[in-house]
Amino acid sequence: MRPVNPSRRTVLAATAAAGAATAGTAGTASASASTSASAAEESDAGAHPPATAQPPTRELRALLREIDPARIEATVRKLVSFGTRHTLSTQDDPARGIGAARDWILAEMRSYAATSGGRMTAELQSYVQEPAPRIPTATRITNVLATLRGSVTPERVYVVSGHYDSRVTDVMDATSDSPGADDDASGVAVAMELARVMARRRPAATIVFAAVAGEEQGLYGAAHMASRFKAAGTDVQAMFTNDIVGASRADDGTKDPYTIRLFAEGVPTSETPEQAATRRSVGGENDSPSRQLARFVRDTADNPATGMRVRVVHRRDRYRRGGDHIPFLEQGYPAARFTEPAEDFAHQHQDVRVEDGKQYGDLPEFCDFPFTARVARVNAAALWTLAQAPGAPREARILTAALTNSTQLVWARGAEPDLAGYEVVWRETTAPEWTHVIPVGDVTSHEVDLSKDNVFFGVRALNGTGLRSPVSFPSPQA
Ligand SMILES: [Zn+2]
Repeated sequence: MRPVNPSRRTVLAATAAAGAATAGTAGTASASASTSASAAEESDAGAHPPATAQPPTRELRALLREIDPARIEATVRKLVSFGTRHTLSTQDDPARGIGAARDWILAEMRSYAATSGGRMTAELQSYVQEPAPRIPTATRITNVLATLRGSVTPERVYVVSGHYDSRVTDVMDATSDSPGADDDASGVAVAMELARVMARRRPAATIVFAAVAGEEQGLYGAAHMASRFKAAGTDVQAMFTNDIVGASRADDGTKDPYTIRLFAEGVPTSETPEQAATRRSVGGENDSPSRQLARFVRDTADNPATGMRVRVVHRRDRYRRGGDHIPFLEQGYPAARFTEPAEDFAHQHQDVRVEDGKQYGDLPEFCDFPFTARVARVNAAALWTLAQAPGAPREARILTAALTNSTQLVWARGAEPDLAGYEVVWRETTAPEWTHVIPVGDVTSHEVDLSKDNVFFGVRALNGTGLRSPVSFPSPQA
C-alpha cells in the first residue's frame, strides 16, 4: 500500500465512506482510500490505474483472444486490392473502385451475421449527395452497417466505425491507385473483426459496426449515419471512429506499438448557450460525456488483457484534421477517435511514388497488423463492457438550493433488469481522473459530506455482475 500523504488526511477523514471500488462483485469496495488519495497527488495519470478501473471479465478475455491479426491483415490487403476506394471512383466495376469494396464488405458482414442466430443484420445505408465541397456531381454515398441487436436493452446503441473510402495527394483524384491501407482500411478492419467475433455473442445492448464512405470528401457518410440515428430518435450512448490505426512507426523511425491515442473533446461541440453559461460559472470543461467516455476506455481497455496503453488526448482531433466522430458530436452523441500514436505523413494522403529513393503512399507494407489487432482489442474491451454494463445514469443533478458544505446528488433510476445500484465518484477539481468511489446502493439520491465547491462529483451505475457504466457528470439544479 502506498503511504498516505499527510496533507490529505483531513480530506480522507471527511470521507470515511470513500473507497476505491474495483470491479468485481457488486458492493465490495476493496481498494483503500489511501490508494485513491495518492492517485490524486500524482500528476502522471498513466502511472497506475484510476480508481474507476474495471478489469476484464472472463467472458471478455475469451472474446479478446479471438481477435486475429491474420484476419485483420487479410481485410486490409483485400481492401487495398480494389485499386482505389475514392468516393468519386466507379461504383459498378466488380473489381476496382469503391463500389467493389462496398459489395465485398457487405458480403463479409453478411457472412458474420449468418453465424449470429438472427441477432445480427447487415445492410447498405445510402443516399445521393448533391454537389457540395469536394463532391462535383451528384454522388451516391453508401455506408455498410452490421447491427448486432441487444438481447436485454436493445434501445441502447453503441457504434464503432472505420471509413472505407481512400484518397491520394489530390483529394479529387478518383482514378489513381489509392491503397489507403492505414487510412483507413485499418479502421474498417477493426470494425469488421469486432463484428466477426461479437456476432456469436449476446450483448445486452445493441452494437453497430460501420464501414462508412465520403470521409475524405468531408465526413459525408458518417454525417448521414448520425443524422439518421438522430431522426429516428436512436439512443446512441457512445461512438468510436477508428481512423489511421494501422501503423506503429513514426516518420522518424521510432516505434510505439503498445500505445493508441484516443482524441476526446472537452467543451461539447453541441453545447447550448445555457450549458455554456453553466460551464463558465461552475466548470466542467473536462467533464463532457465524451471525456467520461474516454475515462471509461482507460478504465476498461488500458490493461494487460489488451496489451495497450490508451493515451487520451484532450482535444477533439489533431490540428487541421477531423474525423467521423465529429458528426456524432454535432448530433449530441458522446464520441471519440482512435488514431495511431505517431503518424508518418509520407504514408497517408500521398500519391504512390518513389521520390529520391523514398517510397511514398499508404501501402500495406507499412502496416503493423498485430498492432491493429491490439487496437481492435481496446475497442472490444470498451464496447463489450459498455454493452454489458448498465447505461450511464440519466438526469444526474447536483442540488444547489441550500448553501451548505455538503453535497446532495440525485439521478433517475435506470431501466436495466440487472441494475444493482450506483456509485458516487469524486476527484479534486485539478485531477484528471476520478480518484474516489463511494458505493451508495440502489438509491436515486445521496448526500456526501464534502463541499460541492471544492471537488467534482459523478455518478455511475453497476449491475449484478459488478460491471460499471460510464460516469454521468451532474448538472446543477437550483
Ligand atoms: Zn481517415
